Amino acid sequence: MSNRVNDILVKKELDGSDIITLLSLTDEKDLEQLRAAAEAKLLAERGDAVFFRGLIEFSNICTADCYYCGIRSSNYAVGRYQLTEHQMVDAALWCAHEGYGSIVLQSGERRDAAFVDFVERVVGAIKAQSRSSVLPDGLGITLCVGEQCEESYRRFFAAGAHRYLLRIESTSETLFSRIHPPAQKLSDRISCLKVLKRIGYLVGTGVMIGLPGQKIEDLARDILFFRKQGIDMIGMGPYIVHSQTPLAAEAHRYGMAPDDAFILSLKMIAVTRLVLHNVNIAATTALQSIKHDGREWGLRYGANVVMPQLTPTEVRKEYSLYEGKPCVDENSEQCRSCLTRRIESVGRVVASNVWGDREC
Ligand code: SAH
Repeated sequence: MSNRVNDILVKKELDGSDIITLLSLTDEKDLEQLRAAAEAKLLAERGDAVFFRGLIEFSNICTADCYYCGIRSSNYAVGRYQLTEHQMVDAALWCAHEGYGSIVLQSGERRDAAFVDFVERVVGAIKAQSRSSVLPDGLGITLCVGEQCEESYRRFFAAGAHRYLLRIESTSETLFSRIHPPAQKLSDRISCLKVLKRIGYLVGTGVMIGLPGQKIEDLARDILFFRKQGIDMIGMGPYIVHSQTPLAAEAHRYGMAPDDAFILSLKMIAVTRLVLHNVNIAATTALQSIKHDGREWGLRYGANVVMPQLTPTEVRKEYSLYEGKPCVDENSEQCRSCLTRRIESVGRVVASNVWGDREC
């Protein structure tokens, strides 16, 4: 064990240079030391419970054209779909019945009136129909439908969504503008996060790790940004190439090898746990697309949330943000038992019938 690492790990508050040091660790003993510290912090702050958020990817129709994303608007090879209200309510009620406590409704980005009305209506329907003696406030509903105007965010909140996920993707101005078309601005995304917080949502954000041109210093600044913005939930994972996207060429030329992006993602989870203490951090599916037990590794490095897929199997493969997405042939029941086994294999327990929000 190196003294330098130990000196950082015992500190109450880490600064930018501590974060850079931890994210740069390569020695196996140092990494294990970091992992153990993050796991101990999680167990002390939140206990051993892992919270399920049933993920319903309800539409891949998208007006955004992000250079990294497989469902970007100019990828004409994708078969577009939109689930019906009935399909979404059914999937949500299945979750409630299975004791999940919370769901995430995610889709491509649309801001038209029909879409906003639809989301508002479905959130309301799920809320109303999921109340029961074990879940008196109904399912906890997280939305992940991109940048919207304040009024839409307020309508979704009033309908019953109380958490919102909007990844910042990267807080580096240079990197953000390299991976998005000019119409998409980092400053807009930061404003959205502030508006969401002001409305009263629990706000989640995150970044992609291992983007071409991304430096350790950029990632350290991302973590400091999470702290400064008072972020409640983190969802982040490795950037994975999708060949039908403009970023693929750059990624093949000077991108990071998947195994390196994987380790760096684990280090990001651990350091974020140490810096943000009691927040919810997801062990994301992208980790599992690089290593079959990737999500378990995420949990061992300080994550405490898992998002089992509830998207109907027949459309799952059309929600391909990146290549090699796991579990596309499985149904909700298979995902549930497989994930429960995975969680128990690392000595943790699945929490039932609770929202699992952090105490602010
Ligand atoms: N439209 C919604 C949800 C989009 S997809 C929104 O904007 O919030 C959810 C996340 O998937 C994105 O925020 C991005 O971080 C991640 N993602 C997209 N393409 C990816 C890729 N090629 N590799 C890894 N993660 C990716």
